[in-house]
Amino acid sequence: MIERARRYSDRSAISSDNQTYTYAELERKSAEIAADLLEGMDDLEEERVAFLVPPGFLYVAIQWGIWRAGGIAVPLCTKHPLPSLQYVIEDTGARSVLYAPAYQELLRPIFDLPDTDFRPAHQVGSGKVRLPDITPDRRAMILYTSGTTGKPKGVVTTHRNIEAQISSLVTAWEWTPEDRILNVLPLHHVHGIVNALCCALWSGACCEFLPRFGEAATFDRFRSGAITVFMAVPTIYYKLLAYYDGLPEAEQKALSDRLRAFRLMVSGSAALPVSVLERWKAISDHTLLERYGMTEMGMAISNPYRGERRPGHIGQALEGVSVRLVDEENEPVADGEAGEIQVRGANVFLEYWDRPDATADAFTRDGWFRTGDVATLADGAYRILGRHSVDIIKSGGYKISALEIEEVLRQHPAIRDCGVVGLPDEEWGEIIGACLIVDDGQVDLTALEGWLRDRLPAYKLPRKYLFTKELPRNVMGKVTKQELKKQFP
Ligand code: ATP
Ligand code: MG
Repeated sequence: MIERARRYSDRSAISSDNQTYTYAELERKSAEIAADLLEGMDDLEEERVAFLVPPGFLYVAIQWGIWRAGGIAVPLCTKHPLPSLQYVIEDTGARSVLYAPAYQELLRPIFDLPDTDFRPAHQVGSGKVRLPDITPDRRAMILYTSGTTGKPKGVVTTHRNIEAQISSLVTAWEWTPEDRILNVLPLHHVHGIVNALCCALWSGACCEFLPRFGEAATFDRFRSGAITVFMAVPTIYYKLLAYYDGLPEAEQKALSDRLRAFRLMVSGSAALPVSVLERWKAISDHTLLERYGMTEMGMAISNPYRGERRPGHIGQALEGVSVRLVDEENEPVADGEAGEIQVRGANVFLEYWDRPDATADAFTRDGWFRTGDVATLADGAYRILGRHSVDIIKSGGYKISALEIEEVLRQHPAIRDCGVVGLPDEEWGEIIGACLIVDDGQVDLTALEGWLRDRLPAYKLPRKYLFTKELPRNVMGKVTKQELKKQFP
């Protein structure tokens, strides 16, 4: 990464806070931070350094500084409350925590944690020393999973893993030094860090940050005409669409002209509803490129940059990544059959931090990573059915995909959004529960059931309904289904 930066020295690397920073500035600042972190040592020897810094130049300089000093970077989530931050700091045994001034008051109550040294981030970085050589198999980063299915787990990746994750995407999505990405995603998660930030910097492109996502600010930057690449989670596209709908016609037209000029628009981290894909296409002419990945492996499967992007599908295995679908005995399933996605490749993580049992459980005996996600492969494209643990509902001997039922429900004109879960039932094992957000409060259930019967077989019909104004989501915008289950009476 850092060696590559030298090739692009005078080009713009980062744009944040209305300032632009070159690759040379990033190289220099990260070396100074590395020198300060070393404090006279030769090498941080995989010590964990956590940092709580908003997206921007300083964030990247710190991340690179930690890497260059031989440490493991632990980016903290700027939206997390103190207990979640403390969990990550203690779980990783971070030697130091660098924080931006805005977070000083939030962190103050834990300043006296033993073994951890808290330091204002902007005061680090004036040193000059010889930096250690970092071999690719050293641990580079610990990212925590989104905590959608349980307590977040620390995912350890090596420099080699991260580089494999980056290079397969740079090739597949044809990044160039002329690209400029607008990044609105948080930088404690693989989507924002690897897919957006690292791919841009690997390519000599420019990564522009918005301090935080906002519909108006995002469209403002789209209007500038400077942005070529955009990536987001489905909920962000959903919010942008709602905002667009409220704009006067002339403004909509001008915006659509800008959107059409983008090179690439990507969606991921959760299933992209076909309705959102279609509406986005209508305003931008872009079929959002949906891809599939995880903290544990970066991206594994992606729709093509050139070629057919099939709605409701996630595409094909990326170059350098092996993917298979297997049954419960780890035997490959027949074409069209549902099976667990298992992955191998240099992109796959090393281990869960300090959880040897979880690491052992995550791999098959022959070295495949078990994703826990279920999919089918038909006509050359993968389709996600959901997580084995929460989205595959076992009812009366059937295995039913919650995502498939959600897709059907979303086609109903009055349903704005929904979440489907399995609820325990003595007779059926599980029954299907549907939580709905509808226009004007409620829909007539009898009419809705009739509508559904025309579209789904009887065993796939929801048995319990719940109406809500908002689905429970984590900071990545993913519906937390365990929470949702609890809301059913
Ligand atoms: P935790 O592991 O803590 O429960 P998490 O799995 O949500 O949280 P991440 O690593 O951020 O943490 O998310 C990876 C998961 O996101 C995948 O396993 C998959 O279930 C889901 N996912 C990612 N991309 C897609 C997609 N395009 N369609 C459907 N699901 C997706
Ligand atoms: Mg997970």
